[in-house]
Amino acid sequence: VNTSGKPDISREKSASLYEKAKSYFPGGVNSPVRAFKSVYGTPLFIEKGDGSHLWDADGNEFIDFCCSWGPLILGHNNARIKDKVIETIQHGMSFGAPTALENELAELILKNNKFIEKIRFVSSGTEAVMSAIRLARGVTKRDKVLKFEGCYHGHSDSLLVKAGSGLVTFGETSSAGIPKAFAEETIVVSLNDREALKTAFEEFKDQIAAVIIEPVPANNGLLLQEKEYLQFLRDICTQNGTLLIFDEVISGFRLGFEGAAGYYQIKPDIITYGKIIGGGLPVGAYGASAEIMDHISPVGSVYQAGTLSGNPVAMAAGIAQLSELLRMGFYRDLNNKTEEFVESIRRFAAARSYKFKVFSIGSIFWFAFTDKAAVRTAEEIDPASMEKFKKMHRELLNRGIYLGPSGYEVGFISAAHNKIDLEKAKRAIFESLDLVF
Ligand code: PLP
Repeated sequence: VNTSGKPDISREKSASLYEKAKSYFPGGVNSPVRAFKSVYGTPLFIEKGDGSHLWDADGNEFIDFCCSWGPLILGHNNARIKDKVIETIQHGMSFGAPTALENELAELILKNNKFIEKIRFVSSGTEAVMSAIRLARGVTKRDKVLKFEGCYHGHSDSLLVKAGSGLVTFGETSSAGIPKAFAEETIVVSLNDREALKTAFEEFKDQIAAVIIEPVPANNGLLLQEKEYLQFLRDICTQNGTLLIFDEVISGFRLGFEGAAGYYQIKPDIITYGKIIGGGLPVGAYGASAEIMDHISPVGSVYQAGTLSGNPVAMAAGIAQLSELLRMGFYRDLNNKTEEFVESIRRFAAARSYKFKVFSIGSIFWFAFTDKAAVRTAEEIDPASMEKFKKMHRELLNRGIYLGPSGYEVGFISAAHNKIDLEKAKRAIFESLDLVF
């Protein structure tokens, strides 16, 4: 029941498209969270996007803070990306052979990112992480991988594993269809817990190929880690001959051109990228030192391939987007704009003593229904607080603001969000908070 006095947006066309979609796709979607299960229950079908705005099938207009889950750092339908994609398409879509565009995107990245020397393009973040794990196993000749509760690394078998209640656990899958034997190669520990890491390294001495972390964990709320903890992680990996993988599918090219590695000035052994690197088209990548990367076939014995890897159209979109990010002051402006926006929301909530915080870094933010000054682990999130998010999400949609449809998801601000958008969004957020509390 809508208690706000604001009418619910019309959803007739979306609802009818959803009915059809349910007969075509499991749950009516091609990726689960899109189904709006934890909010309104009927997804909006999107018709177009332009700049910071989205329009759904019923003609409702929104200011978009989901930005396709992160890739659209320049907003929707950016003219430079569009032009470059159209120009590229004139010459064909895919060749399955090397092109100069791959060199161009690689050069753009490697010349401006001191943390990797060679890169391999794939077609999604999942693929990038999957390949990075195989590479780490191939290099170290070890099998186990350590990950953190609350970090998401795509849907590959060994990473869809969650922790149980112990200090160090392994083997509990978070999806059906994953062999127990695979999951047993994955060790899971809590974030921000040095003792758990030490215990894991003692228990599995000389067996851990890689530790993988989102250096900015942004898939289970925004669980910001302290630099000292990330440094501790770096050191314990080095001491144990374990490769440290930073999964920068979200943070890469988002916090700055060098992502979280640059932000914290910590050098992982392998970095994975996705989202922004493809300018809105399907691209992922992984990179490392030349020495590590040369373990990959056809030079080395770690096999990894892809029919559409390095696809020219996707490369073109990536080149156009990343070139913009290298403009002087790009990140400074984007990050300052975000900080101003979230700070005024924080002030509003604090003045009314609402149990509500906004955590943020760079142009990523998370609305947390908590009074904790910091939330660094998945366990600190109260699942009951998601009811408040659900209500807020609906009130925001009714006021023309589109957030990802789950309270565990973060929001993104793009270069296309202007002062008017952010003022309008603030007003809507203030009104919604007043209704939620
Ligand atoms: N790693 C991280 C940190 C992610 O956030 C995601 C997706 O959101 C992935 C990996 C998987 O990427 P994709 O959805 O492109 O397969």
